[in-house]
Amino acid sequence: MLTLEGVGKRYPTGDRALSDIDLALPKGQVMALIGPSGAGKSTLIRCVNRLVEPSQGHIRLDGDELTTLSGAGLRRARRSMGMIFQEYALVDRLTVMENVLSGRLGYVGFWRSFFRRYPEQDVREAFRLLERVGLDHALDKRADALSGGQRQRVGIARALLQSPRLLLVDEPTASLDPKTSRQIMRLIRELCAERGLAAIINIHDVALARQFADRIVGLNAGRIVFDGAPSELTSDI
Ligand code: ADP
Ligand code: ADP
Repeated sequence: MLTLEGVGKRYPTGDRALSDIDLALPKGQVMALIGPSGAGKSTLIRCVNRLVEPSQGHIRLDGDELTTLSGAGLRRARRSMGMIFQEYALVDRLTVMENVLSGRLGYVGFWRSFFRRYPEQDVREAFRLLERVGLDHALDKRADALSGGQRQRVGIARALLQSPRLLLVDEPTASLDPKTSRQIMRLIRELCAERGLAAIINIHDVALARQFADRIVGLNAGRIVFDGAPSELTSDI
């Protein structure tokens, strides 16, 4: 469903972050992207949602050429990709529920001040998702009162509220302790299975990648140096 063909990225500073990347991600596959710092993992993920403009190549999602989209077409394509970030990117002064709703409504303050409430269908779906990630007891808590693991659960629910086809996950466990990291990775893994979602998970922890991904792609200096099942990965790369 997602294909990258000859994708390259050179930043204006001259740094060549990606060279000639070919990759096909089938529906429902959970792929871990591993490699040392500076290998190009974040750049690859950001090329897919076009937070970074690739310098060469083609990226297609279900036949749509993402590399040439702009305006409304790009916004629509981005809605089909759920982003989950390392630092959660929640709005601290908003509640758990409002943070999740912002995944679909955008600026939730607008809905609050103009309509005094949020669309009911979205609230119901957000509630179901918060139940699924185990936070239905904390709907009205402010985001800044949550633990790191809870914040990441809110981030996951927010990403899923857009009903994405693809999850782009950038270092989801970087700020979490080992036990919470495993719980978060297991949750992402289960949700992908339940919803038939494909995912690219940028993760530097090779043990977590092995445990929770269907496939591991190793990057080094902007090139793919490994692509296979976790069981085929014999040494750290
Ligand atoms: P990783 O996620 O694997 O740590 P990155 O994609 O962040 O790797 O970085 C890949 C390379 O691109 C590095 O050499 C980094 O310094 C460079 N790079 C990343 N972002 C930028 C940027 N915004 N401007 C210039 N160079 C960048
Ligand atoms: P990550 O751990 O995700 O690779 P980094 O800590 O390398 O992130 O980079 C953080 C931010 O700085 C990112 O937005 C990245 O694009 C940017 N960045 C990284 N390397 C460079 C660079 N050489 N020049 C300019 N910006 C950079």
